[in-house]
Amino acid sequence: MYWADELASRLSGPQVVNDSKTPSGTVHVGSLRGPVVLDAIWRALRDRGLEAQLLYGVDDMDPMDAQALLTPDAVERYMGVPLARVPAPEGSGAASYARHFAGLFLDTFAGLGIHPRTYWMSEVYPSGAVDPYVRLALDRADRVREIYRRVANVQHSADWHPVQVVCEDCGKIGTTIVTQWDGERVFYECRADLVAWARGCGHSGWVEPFGGRAKLGWNLEWAAQWGIFGVTVEPNGKDLATAGGSRDRADAISREIFEREPPLNFPYEFLNISGRKMSTSKGRGAAAHTMVDLLPPELVRFLFLRYRPNHAIDFDPAGDTIPRLFDEFDRIAAAVAGRDVKGELPPDHERIFATSLLDPDADPAAEAARFRPDFSQVALLVQLPGADIEGRLAVEKGAPLDMAEQVILADRLRAARAWLEAYAPDRARFAVRDELPMEARHGLADEQRAYLGALAQSSAVARPVSGEAWQDLIFRLAEEAALPAGRAFAAIYLAFLGRTNGPRAGWLLAGLDREFVAERLRGAAGWSPDPEEATA
Ligand SMILES: [Zn+2]
Repeated sequence: MYWADELASRLSGPQVVNDSKTPSGTVHVGSLRGPVVLDAIWRALRDRGLEAQLLYGVDDMDPMDAQALLTPDAVERYMGVPLARVPAPEGSGAASYARHFAGLFLDTFAGLGIHPRTYWMSEVYPSGAVDPYVRLALDRADRVREIYRRVANVQHSADWHPVQVVCEDCGKIGTTIVTQWDGERVFYECRADLVAWARGCGHSGWVEPFGGRAKLGWNLEWAAQWGIFGVTVEPNGKDLATAGGSRDRADAISREIFEREPPLNFPYEFLNISGRKMSTSKGRGAAAHTMVDLLPPELVRFLFLRYRPNHAIDFDPAGDTIPRLFDEFDRIAAAVAGRDVKGELPPDHERIFATSLLDPDADPAAEAARFRPDFSQVALLVQLPGADIEGRLAVEKGAPLDMAEQVILADRLRAARAWLEAYAPDRARFAVRDELPMEARHGLADEQRAYLGALAQSSAVARPVSGEAWQDLIFRLAEEAALPAGRAFAAIYLAFLGRTNGPRAGWLLAGLDREFVAERLRGAAGWSPDPEEATA
């Protein structure tokens, strides 16, 4: 059974699926695994007929602790301040640092067909919804300390309390520690040296820790979110799922302090970015919003859903990773459409395909049957000057593209251009030469020229139109001339591109003007080295 269906089969009654994130900077594409897994679970619950709500929280009361993202003069002032109260980076129209970075991330969700109800902790605290949990945590501070000792082997001092106050003097929260609780107010100090990454102002005083003047420690805040929103399922990254880690602590706090059974856990593995060739200077990189701009949404979903969540994914957007991702998606689509495909299929390929689709109500069989142009072919066609791309692909399909297929093509054109610009290997980039290249004049052997001559003649008779037909002819003539296929392809690449490698030759010739191809083939075949130039 598909992992999300299996999980859904263990549940009954109304469900609330939740995740949350600290918006501390640009998030890379791997961070989308959580939301995609979340959405797949929500869809599986819905498919099972359960009432299900999808929630996503922004932990924007967390302190700013990423110095690299601040200008030098802002470091002293804003390190340790709640992210909701740090200004947005220059040039951003957002109301705060948190709104800016969380906004970028949340905007990508909608484009991926993920539509959670979002909440911001900077709004939840002032609403008073957290106050009962703050009170419980303070009343039971000794038991919280005992949980940290027992579950996580963390020893807090006897006067440590599990809330942090927003300093009334300097506005920082990361630098304050609460040392007393009288049942209505806490006593706190804003210490210069409490943490290494931010400097407190030295202020101290008594304050009522409610209504947003203080926040719970992170593990407690997590457990409080479960109670406030009635969360029943919460997947989390495996970094949080280690023994004694954040999830274990939050689970224990939920049970023992807030007296509520924690939500069903569902740990998922990471997507690792292994891009040694990536550099941000060329606009490369793997920021979530960059990848979402590049890949069509169903391909982003598929990137994560192709494998079970407990399977780590290595993703290097450079090289052939992206064409291979498209090829694998198309292969699974073809299998869902009932066509024969090469290679082994994942056992749940129908569900993988269905959950990769943007629209949860789409008909997977109809979607799978659509014509999807090969990504490498699209990447080839966009490099041919003046090519009638849609016309070419209609030839490959054998019929005009319908509206949905035109959208698929537009997505792939955009992706191919971005891939060629930033990630493609050099061999995938080429330019068809206007004149017979010098490299062909010097590099073609006699039997290769004879081969190109034969190709010119045969194609004038056979008139191949599709890339497939050209490819067949190229192979057949090479065989007839007893020319190794590699030498035959090299001859074509030399004649058109001035080099010995290139994209699929059949598609290349099919994409070019018929007269231009014929003339070039004849020219390359008939050209013989000028004896003077050859000896010079
Ligand atoms: Zn202070």
